[in-house]
Amino acid sequence: MLRRLVVGILLSSAVLALNACGRQQGPEESCNFVQNSSVQRVSWGEQTPIILYVDKSVPPEYFGAIEQAVEQWNSARGRGLIKIGGWINSSAGPARDGANVIYWLREWEADRPFEQARTSVYWAGDRIYETDIRVNEKNFDYAIGPVAGTVDIVSLMVHEIGHVLGLAHLDKEPSVMATSLANATERRLPTATDIQSLKCEY
Ligand SMILES: [Zn+2]
Repeated sequence: MLRRLVVGILLSSAVLALNACGRQQGPEESCNFVQNSSVQRVSWGEQTPIILYVDKSVPPEYFGAIEQAVEQWNSARGRGLIKIGGWINSSAGPARDGANVIYWLREWEADRPFEQARTSVYWAGDRIYETDIRVNEKNFDYAIGPVAGTVDIVSLMVHEIGHVLGLAHLDKEPSVMATSLANATERRLPTATDIQSLKCEY
């Protein structure tokens, strides 16, 4: 699930002016991307590969699953959109520090027990400049593959990395960006719709 933090919006007018030569300034079709207050898609644009770090809080046995999820998106688009930057030790926990980091959290908001994970997306104008993925270790169990009572970590990471790319939830068509992921379910392959969405920005 996604709770989008809209902090970047405050900077949008200044950055839009800087970008004025290269980008369409009017409203854009969403292509299933998150849109800013000017109804433009927000994405990383040319700033790929996006470097994604893995915090020490992530169980080491899931590192390969995260790499698999990254590979699903890269092969879906036929180029390296995302690159794993390796382990990082952010002792302070999730913060707006300029790095894209995956965290495993033992503490989770008491009023959000059904949220498996959350990706924060920060942007200025129509460009994303930081994302962080938080996984809810307090309320869910994880495994690699369809295991009863657990969430498939590859499928969950494919979805959250979709948010890192700027994609929003999509429930009207088959998509890895569907809002909910059932236990013991593999939903790992970006669909034709997802790939079509990506092509609007990457
Ligand atoms: Zn989501």
